[in-house]
Amino acid sequence: MDTTSFTKKSISGVAIVEPALTPPPIANTHPTFAKKTRIGTGKSKTKKRDIPEGLWTKCPSCETMIFDKELDENLKVCPKCQHHFPIGSRERIHSLVETCTFEEMDATMASVDILGFKGASTYKSKLDAYKKNTTLKDAVVTGLCKIGEQRVALGVMDFNFLGGSMGSVVGEKLTRLIERGTEKELPVIIISTSGGARMYEGMFSLMQMAKTSAALAYHARRRLPYISILTHPTTAGVMASYATLGDLILAEPGAMIGFAGPRVIKDTTQAELPPGFQTAEFLLDHGLIDAIVSRKEMKAQLTGYLNYFTVGKKVAAV
Ligand SMILES: [Zn+2]
Repeated sequence: MDTTSFTKKSISGVAIVEPALTPPPIANTHPTFAKKTRIGTGKSKTKKRDIPEGLWTKCPSCETMIFDKELDENLKVCPKCQHHFPIGSRERIHSLVETCTFEEMDATMASVDILGFKGASTYKSKLDAYKKNTTLKDAVVTGLCKIGEQRVALGVMDFNFLGGSMGSVVGEKLTRLIERGTEKELPVIIISTSGGARMYEGMFSLMQMAKTSAALAYHARRRLPYISILTHPTTAGVMASYATLGDLILAEPGAMIGFAGPRVIKDTTQAELPPGFQTAEFLLDHGLIDAIVSRKEMKAQLTGYLNYFTVGKKVAAV
């Protein structure tokens, strides 16, 4: 009865054309890392459920079934318990910047298989599959834009592309972004989500930590603000470089943030870990981050922070 009317309603909703910036078709938005299976399988029809696929998502926190359209309209935040689902880079940019102000930088820069990496599958085949499935070229989107009245240099990482891992392209794009910010005297904002350095590029990945950090040092020398935003999950090499160098470090609620994972730490230290270890809330209590800001509040809060940082300075012209 009720369900039938819902079904009818949702079928008509499917026909609606999504806005241009709606993120790529990695449909399943559960915040697990087990996305890998989707890549390559193409038409993933794993387990059939009774409800139409792609219309509803179950919240992993409160177990409510949420209509996908409602979830999209709510910036991928559960309306009941405020659980933050992963969100694509383009959708996030769309939610933060002023309409039509985003000028993307280095949009075509793509990784090459510099080490000739061979494993269960080659790096090249991985790159091809992720490019096809995400319509991204790599795990970060960078550009200049306006948030509120302030022009900023904005970099947004995307976990959908190889777990947001930092390879040469991520490092180079962010470094160029920071350098452009320095040159134009703009605040830099980087929104991180990453499993760390990209193993397929070995040492070349690790070098990005020093490169991005050095660029931020030059930016800081000009007394320009850098805001780092940590989202679920931000770990390893990214956490050990630009993600923790912010003048202001914000995080989304419930985000997992740390260097090594809790299991590794537990095994190494042989100690019981405190409750909530490596969550944004835990790190706020212990002084590593400055504030937890929900996704829906982020734009307003950022506008406020940017006004604070740039007070008395001339706002850079568009
Ligand atoms: Zn929920």
